[in-house]
Amino acid sequence: MNSYDTYNPLTHKGYLPIRVLEYNIIDWFEKVKPDFLDDLKYEVENSGLNAGIKYHIEKSKITSSSYIDRNKSIHLYETYNQFLWTLCYALMVIFDKSIKLPVLMKTFSGRINVEDIFVKRAIAVFQTGVSLYKDYSDTVFYELPNPEKYAEFEKLYIEKTNSIYVAALTFILIHEYSHHYFGHLDQVSSKDQLKKDEFNSDDYAFGLIKQNFGSEKGWSFRVGVIAALTSIIFFDNSLEGGNEHPDPDERLSKILSQMELNDLSDESGIATLSFILWSIHYNIQFELPKEVSCFKELYEKILVNVAAIKRPS
Ligand SMILES: [Zn+2]
Repeated sequence: MNSYDTYNPLTHKGYLPIRVLEYNIIDWFEKVKPDFLDDLKYEVENSGLNAGIKYHIEKSKITSSSYIDRNKSIHLYETYNQFLWTLCYALMVIFDKSIKLPVLMKTFSGRINVEDIFVKRAIAVFQTGVSLYKDYSDTVFYELPNPEKYAEFEKLYIEKTNSIYVAALTFILIHEYSHHYFGHLDQVSSKDQLKKDEFNSDDYAFGLIKQNFGSEKGWSFRVGVIAALTSIIFFDNSLEGGNEHPDPDERLSKILSQMELNDLSDESGIATLSFILWSIHYNIQFELPKEVSCFKELYEKILVNVAAIKRPS
């Protein structure tokens, strides 16, 4: 059986398997629209944007996802990125195997079928990823489906996951860049203004990414945006954005409404699954319907659960 090893020790830096995708991220980011690289160069030469990304490779648990500092340097973290890849993998595999078909066949029971071998592995991948919030580990990621070394039978899901992951980080990088572009970093802002700035940065990143929806990367970009926006809910069990960010479900719903989805679009089903994984991880019971006719309905039911958690009666 064919197997793939994409690691090059001369160019790939880091300890975790997502190290092999670093150049893909930069490539998708710089090419998100035809003249974007020129825009970036202009900002570096004229507006103080720091060229290059500060990439944190630290053998420690997840403390941050990404940010841009007041010196206009964008920061990314290897551990968070590895978690993001495992979330992308779980979203795609579990949705495909355990939600999509059952909902279409009207046999969805409100639960994930953990008997399927791919679903079992996807849950293991996700649990290993989310464990990075508590403790650092690396070797275990190479024993599970990962982007660096994989067998032929895993190729399809792994390569699809790679595209979603790269798309998610493209969204994150544009979001951070836009804080510089809009001058958010040069102001002292109220809490309300900081939250408005976050929505504006999401809208800007989504606007650029949307231009690719008609391309072969379209599906990956759509799911990648959802993965990026839902990945932040796993920091804690609150579903709240805190002092400086809007609540994650509000950010997600705002972007989903701009995707012009129909009732059976995969995207709202995939977004739903992020919240289900979150509820399982934090051991919080979600009331899921036994019968749903479409993914949009499932997503709306999830929002009712989310509202109940944020504002208990
Ligand atoms: Zn932001």
